[in-house]
Amino acid sequence: MQFKPFAPGIEVNGQTAYAILDGFKDFEQLASKFLLLEGIGTRGPAGLAIIEPEGWYKQAAWLRAFENIAKQIGDRVLFQIGVAIPRNAKFPPFVVDVVSAIRSIDIAYHMNHRKDGVTLFDPKTGQMSEGIGHYGCEVIPDKNMIVSVCNNPYPCAFDRGILTAMAQRFDPTSAVAHDDAAPCRKNGGESCTYMVTWRG
Ligand SMILES: [Zn+2]
Repeated sequence: MQFKPFAPGIEVNGQTAYAILDGFKDFEQLASKFLLLEGIGTRGPAGLAIIEPEGWYKQAAWLRAFENIAKQIGDRVLFQIGVAIPRNAKFPPFVVDVVSAIRSIDIAYHMNHRKDGVTLFDPKTGQMSEGIGHYGCEVIPDKNMIVSVCNNPYPCAFDRGILTAMAQRFDPTSAVAHDDAAPCRKNGGESCTYMVTWRG
C-alpha cells in the first residue's frame, strides 16, 4: 500500500525529505505548504519550508505529504520528486553504471532512513535492517535489462522517477517501464514492478 509506514519509529533524513521542494521546482511555496502542513521543516521567509539536511523527519508525516500531493496534484509531480531523489540523497561510492546504480538504490534507501534512531544500513558492517521494504534489482542475463520489484510505502510514480533518474545518470539511452500486468500499489497492491532497459 502507498503512504502507510511498514513499522513505527521510522524517520527519513533531511537530504531526502528536501526532494519534495526540489521536485516542485518553481513551485517551492506550494511544496512548502504540503511539508509544513505535516510539521516537516520550519517556516522561513516568504513561507518557504526550511529543511535541515542533517535533520530527521517522521516518515509517517512525509508519506502523508505524498498522499496529499497525489490527491491534489497527481503523478507527474510525484515522478518529478522521485527524479529529484538522486540529486539530493547520499549514494555509495561503488555506483559506476546502470546495474550498480539500480542495485545501490536499496542500500541508499536504507542509509537515508532510520528506526528508533538507528540508521537502517551501516556502511561499516554492511548490515541492513528491516522496516521500510525494498527496491529490488534482478539483472536479466544476456539482456540490458533489470526487473525491479519495489515493495515499499512510497507511491508508484515516485519510484518510477527514482529508477529513471538513476538509470539515465549512467546511460542516457535507458528507459523505465511500469509492468502493468503485475500488481500496482496505486491499486492497493503491495508492490510495483518496473523494467529498466538500456542500449548499452
Ligand atoms: Zn505501480
